[in-house]
Amino acid sequence: MSDCCSANAKSGSAPAVMPCPANGGRSKRVDSLTVKSLVRKLPLGMPNTQYYFCEASDCEVVYFALDAEAPRFRREDLVVRVGAKETADPIPICYCFGFTRQDIWDEIRCTGKSTVARRITAEVEAGHCACEVKNPSGKCCLGDVTRAVKDGLTVVQIKNC
Ligand SMILES: [Zn+2]
Repeated sequence: MSDCCSANAKSGSAPAVMPCPANGGRSKRVDSLTVKSLVRKLPLGMPNTQYYFCEASDCEVVYFALDAEAPRFRREDLVVRVGAKETADPIPICYCFGFTRQDIWDEIRCTGKSTVARRITAEVEAGHCACEVKNPSGKCCLGDVTRAVKDGLTVVQIKNC
């Protein structure tokens, strides 16, 4: 899945993946614009360093930096719920258009399928997405949508409502 709003070209020589210092989870680079957009209150004098996104559900750290001195940001520091770290609803999946896992599962419950990926793709193609400043991963949500649909199709009881 390619990134729909990819603007992460200026990552320079920082490693593409780093282990999270809290739980060792494989964490991918995230653009500093994403961090600055989603952290509620930025500390003064934050160094210019590469940040990484830990998506492990059992880890409180969301963003950590290559520079070990730079501040780390935890779930409660962000203005949004981090879907990858939530186990209780609402679990945000698509941050641009506000789809939650519940929305996807409700549609599956009623119709046996999900049209969410198709609807998001249409918006993406029209240039309406803003994943870079809305999604904590900084990336397009379509991979997460696909996963939520796949999970929904195995656990949701279809009722044709
Ligand atoms: Zn972590």
